[in-house]
Amino acid sequence: MTTLAKNISPRGNGGGLKRAKEALSGRRALVVGLASTGLAAARFLKKCGAVVTATDSKPLKEIPAAEELLSLGIEVKAGGHEGLEKGGFDLVIVSPGVPYDLKLLCGLRDLGAEVISDIELAYRFIDAPVIAIAGTNGKTTTTTLLGEILKDAGKKVFVGGNIGTPAVEFVESEMAVDHCVLEISSFHLETTDRFNPHVGVLLNITEDHLDRYRDFEHYAETKFRLFKNQTAADYAIVNMNDPIIAERVRNGLGKGRAVPFSVEGETKDGLSYNGSEIVFRCSGQEERYPVSDIRLKGLHNIENVMAVIAASRITGIGRDEILSTLKRFEGLSHRMEFVRERNGVQYIDDSKGTNIGSLMMALRGLKGPVILIAGGVDKGGDYRVLGPLVKEKVKLMVLIGEARFKIKDALGAITETVMAASLKEAVEVSGKNAKAGDTVLLCPACSSFDMFRSYKERGDKFKEFVRAL
Ligand code: ADP
Repeated sequence: MTTLAKNISPRGNGGGLKRAKEALSGRRALVVGLASTGLAAARFLKKCGAVVTATDSKPLKEIPAAEELLSLGIEVKAGGHEGLEKGGFDLVIVSPGVPYDLKLLCGLRDLGAEVISDIELAYRFIDAPVIAIAGTNGKTTTTTLLGEILKDAGKKVFVGGNIGTPAVEFVESEMAVDHCVLEISSFHLETTDRFNPHVGVLLNITEDHLDRYRDFEHYAETKFRLFKNQTAADYAIVNMNDPIIAERVRNGLGKGRAVPFSVEGETKDGLSYNGSEIVFRCSGQEERYPVSDIRLKGLHNIENVMAVIAASRITGIGRDEILSTLKRFEGLSHRMEFVRERNGVQYIDDSKGTNIGSLMMALRGLKGPVILIAGGVDKGGDYRVLGPLVKEKVKLMVLIGEARFKIKDALGAITETVMAASLKEAVEVSGKNAKAGDTVLLCPACSSFDMFRSYKERGDKFKEFVRAL
């Protein structure tokens, strides 16, 4: 393990606010999209002395931050982007929710503006080693767990990015840390330029957000941008059980040192799983992590834990320290969260299961029979790939939301399927049809915005209805 167990701090240990001020002072910046990320970027740019304009397609009264921005002396263009297409900006910061090919952004690029995400902006001024976690599913669990292990081991860490605190706020805070752990979405990676994590983790690539990408290849390519600037001093932790990632590793991923993991079969100089232990082999040495010591459950979490072990070992954390956090970390809400048992029926909240890949994993991990509540806003994937699993495990499908017809068309002939007008009705129908030994699973494979503000609200409501049964 010696080659992995060294403390690496190649770039210093904090955020370079002074450097940011030098680089950004007097620059003309436009922030597109004014939710929490855009707001943080606008504040940061202003603090660094940039001349800032902020815009959102929503009308002014629907932008809660508008007043604050105006009071800071930031020009706000709400309800559209009129007049902005003429340009006059050096730098454009685009929020994750804004499409890369928005006409405004294409036009500004043509006029010579640099269009980047808040993560790319922050990265330029982060001096601590960055560990970045990407993938279709498991990012938040993996990012949070890694942050906990590093903190428990006495390291100073910033954990944020796509979750929690935006990365620019870390730079602004001038906090000195040993490591910066960032959750990265494919939307961030669309606009990376210099971004180069010292340790990059790619968990999986399955269909998601196809409403926003040309096709699956385009989506996958965006994820691989995580590794594009890596050098031989960097690490790429990669899931070899994912066929798309495995193929790319075989064809050359980049210059970083690959640390492979897989829940099936062996890996060379990496992590594998023998059914009861995670085994890490490196440079002729071997370490074992008993699964009985890991509080997180499910095969998908074995994958997440493998990635976390690799990243922790690279940063110099020892096996026993890693295990002590694994023994206590119980996972996050709305991710295969056990809600209650009633009359021998288990109820599980997987409201964060917002795509087909996460539903596939959820069903794989359950013994069945399952009553599945699914549906919401469709993201453009093909539900038919779930056919064999649904046939094997799902005794009843209760469909809700906009996507219910599309899901019924794809899978309705395979198992008994009913429609429900609300989540409450779906829970009640499920409760009535469930028998001892069944599992009622909320895993929508869709986003929530047709019926709820967020996946959190959807999951909380599910729990409320389940407890009321
Ligand atoms: P993300 O931040 O990438 O959305 P989360 O940790 O919030 O990831 O989990 C999202 C969903 O994916 C949940 O339904 C969870 O049960 C499932 N999941 C978590 N890890 C994995 C994994 N490694 N592979 C597939 N699904 C996973």
